Amino acid sequence: MAGKRIATALLLALVTSCTPSAPHPAGGEAPAAGNTRVAGDGGIPKNGFISLDDDAHAAIANLDPVLLSAMRKAAADATLQGVEFRVTSGWRSAQYQQRLLDEAIELYSSEEEARRWVHPPEKSAHVTGKAMDIGPTNADDWLIQHGAEYGLCQAYANEMWHFELLTTPGGECPQPRGTPGP
Ligand SMILES: [Zn+2]
Repeated sequence: MAGKRIATALLLALVTSCTPSAPHPAGGEAPAAGNTRVAGDGGIPKNGFISLDDDAHAAIANLDPVLLSAMRKAAADATLQGVEFRVTSGWRSAQYQQRLLDEAIELYSSEEEARRWVHPPEKSAHVTGKAMDIGPTNADDWLIQHGAEYGLCQAYANEMWHFELLTTPGGECPQPRGTPGP
């Protein structure tokens, strides 16, 4: 039982984590509820992934178009080097983000602990369509090395899979925020 619980906790952390101690910058963007172009909550099954080209999926279609096109450019170049990108999370509705937080609170039996791993809707860059989680690990390594050429940066030190547009193409990424989590 304990092993399963820990495994579930790890999976949840991998899929949904975002460290609240290193909040996303206040962007002032319009809430995603107002700019949803494809219906759905953006949910991708745990341990699942979708293609960057899956325009019918809300997780892709409701992303910031500038972020999506930067990621597609990067993915095309990575493919030439034999590295394939998979999307494990993109846009999420506020309701979906809240559900992830609620699940984490249940899992950890502690809201404080849950918030170490899952942002509330008002703090998540996924809800504004400004963040993407990419896998597998070799794709993350590639993006950490080459992402700045496209404006794509690893946002958190403890989340090698979470990327946001944090610089101009060809610029320099800021230091990933936060200290490594548990
Ligand atoms: Zn993320």
